[in-house]
Amino acid sequence: MLSEEEVRTKILAAVPILPVKKVPLRQAASRFSATELVATIPLPSFDNSAMDGYAVVASSATKGARLKIVGDQPAGVSRDLRVRPGQAVRIFTGAPLPAGADAVVMQEETERADDFVLIRTDRVSPGEFVRKAGGDLAVGQQILRRGERLSPVTLPLLASQGVESIDVHESPRIAIVTTGDELVALGTELRPGEIFETNGVMLAGLAEASGAEVVMQSHCRDDFEELCAVLRDATKNDVVIISGGVSVGERDLVRDALRKVGAQIDLWRVAVKPGKPFLFGMRERCAIFGLPGNPVSSFVTFLIFVRPALLRMMGARDLGMARSIARLSHDIAGDETRPHYLRGKIDEGRFCLVGQQESHALFGLARANALLRLTPGEQLPAGSAVEVLLLE
Ligand code: AMP
Ligand code: MG
Repeated sequence: MLSEEEVRTKILAAVPILPVKKVPLRQAASRFSATELVATIPLPSFDNSAMDGYAVVASSATKGARLKIVGDQPAGVSRDLRVRPGQAVRIFTGAPLPAGADAVVMQEETERADDFVLIRTDRVSPGEFVRKAGGDLAVGQQILRRGERLSPVTLPLLASQGVESIDVHESPRIAIVTTGDELVALGTELRPGEIFETNGVMLAGLAEASGAEVVMQSHCRDDFEELCAVLRDATKNDVVIISGGVSVGERDLVRDALRKVGAQIDLWRVAVKPGKPFLFGMRERCAIFGLPGNPVSSFVTFLIFVRPALLRMMGARDLGMARSIARLSHDIAGDETRPHYLRGKIDEGRFCLVGQQESHALFGLARANALLRLTPGEQLPAGSAVEVLLLE
């Protein structure tokens, strides 16, 4: 059986990085940049006022001083005004600072009397309420790295530079194929022995949260011909995620069906708990993931194998999950022979397991917000500091 690390390495080496296309900023959120950018416009781009108030020469704006107002400087224009000691210019937030001024006194600390303003504050320091040009960002500084995720915090920075569109990698088009005679679609009456199909909605949600586009979703009975037909169709996309039918039972037909449709199975079975029967293969340029049908196994193998592959295809530089340090609320022991992913809850820096830790236990999974990975045989006492993987 292959190790978790060997499996991830083989998958990442096999999946293609998707082509690049230029998109308007508005469509770039959650994509990964295919290019790097440096600042061409400093931020702020000119010295300006942080307040509505009066631009002054700080040394002449002592408490009780009566300064002559020599002009008005609104935001959005430059009036080329100049301030000398004993003078002030009425100024507004974001307006360019007049020549000679080195501070702004906020309106609330002044009193206006005709063409004069009285300073009420104890002292005005040079630089007060002035946003210095380049103070936030200098020309030439890197503002975007290749493979960086474009987000609501990076996109406005690009807009500040006048960037209208950006090169990003395409998102993988994904087909999800669930399998199993016992599974029925929502809206159907359950007969004895049947259960509702639940992995489809879970895997679609996980795939979309990773930035992929789910373009096909089918359920297939454990029927060889039906499975072959669906897989032929599904593998026309960039990625196929199959749930169930990859284990060793007579009704586990996925491997034979994949061979029949000309797919190559690169690996099957991995030393990880839950998730042992995991499968990966390719059919031409389509990456195929076979996940165990048990819901928790499907969930965990998606996160540890499929998610990094999707991110790699989208050109991401960071393939890892968000992490956090926590202290264990109780003793924990993992599997003796395989790395073990346990589901739990992190709350105010403490981590405790939730629900049944078996691979069918959907309710336990639904209450978890973090995963803890234990190495084979690892036992940790309550109070140990651990690094957990965040699910939200
Ligand atoms: P399999 O991997 O096909 O042997 O399935 C393992 C277990 O997971 C069985 O108990 C199945 O009923 C269950 N299972 C498989 N696929 C799904 C699914 N899509 N939704 C809910 N349970 C599933
Ligand atoms: Mg099955």
